[in-house]
Amino acid sequence: MAPKHGLSALQAEETLAKRVKNSSTPASRSATPAEITARVPFSVQYPLVDTKRKLSKREQELVDHAEFQISPFVAKGASKKGELDQHYTVTPSAEWESMKKYNNFIIQGEVYKNNHFVYVRGQDTPKGSVERDKDFWVARILQVRATNPQHVYALVAWLYWPEELPPPKTKTSDTVNSISGQRKYHGSHELIASNYMEVLDVLSFAGKADVYQWEEEDDNLTSKLYWRQTFCRETQELSTLRKHCICDGYFNPEVAMMICDNEECKLWMHEECLIDDILTKTYERVVEDGSEEADANGAAKPASKKGKSGRKIWKGKFDAKFHTDDTADGSHTTVTITDLRSTSKGPKTWTERVACLKCASLLD
Ligand SMILES: [Zn+2]
Ligand SMILES: [Zn+2]
Repeated sequence: MAPKHGLSALQAEETLAKRVKNSSTPASRSATPAEITARVPFSVQYPLVDTKRKLSKREQELVDHAEFQISPFVAKGASKKGELDQHYTVTPSAEWESMKKYNNFIIQGEVYKNNHFVYVRGQDTPKGSVERDKDFWVARILQVRATNPQHVYALVAWLYWPEELPPPKTKTSDTVNSISGQRKYHGSHELIASNYMEVLDVLSFAGKADVYQWEEEDDNLTSKLYWRQTFCRETQELSTLRKHCICDGYFNPEVAMMICDNEECKLWMHEECLIDDILTKTYERVVEDGSEEADANGAAKPASKKGKSGRKIWKGKFDAKFHTDDTADGSHTTVTITDLRSTSKGPKTWTERVACLKCASLLD
């Protein structure tokens, strides 16, 4: 992850160098918008406050002017408390420190305050009206300083679109492609909060953004922007997410999930995992335990255990669809199973209640 502007860490430079090669990808949006840089004489540096090494005069100066930022972003699954908290120094320090701090400012009638989320115009943001959220960058205001109404600057922490994340240092199977760090569980309205900071001219702001922290307690996200995960500048790693379902997978809000109603359990399950379980059991009951596919000598085929190791033995033979059925004793989730085999002698379609994959309670 490169900061959108102002590179100081070697790590970030390396990452940017990698991203320059893919300049046609959305990741290139992290490059500095030239006209905005011209207006912002400040940059954010991350001083070496904890090193035992002898510092150069310049490094010592950064340490002397360092401030500590407690990140407003604390991910639910954060492995280390305060992982995103850090020292930073805005340079030139004397000019930055001489400016007065403000609690809010107004652009085009809109009041902005510390901790507000904002849309920021970047180099690829179309001029005029913008339809897509992703044509903007999104940041959170940490501090506002000004010399006069024409020169108002905000220190911000960036949030990134998943496509802007750098590829992970260690390969994982859940990345969407090889050019970015976007994961399969990232939703299309998802942002990743970071501790990359920058000073922006508030004239680059294009309105307030409505971003909230999703705690994975519901799947009721509609089209709102949310964040649930952080990306740490120092470790270049994403925070760990809660695992769900019996597959220990993640929650992608755009992939259907069902929750167990048992208060003690409350497991979120992927519909895909439920279907696999239901149809594997159906296959075992109807095909393997039944007499339908007996061979010429009348002996049943040996039971295949392959379904458990990932291969879907039911593929092409059975199909399942979920419904919510209103009955006299309330509404229940049911599944309609269809036998797709042309040779089957049993019923073609039937409906069953759905059981939790962990505690076996029937789902409401
Ligand atoms: Zn699952
Ligand atoms: Zn359960």
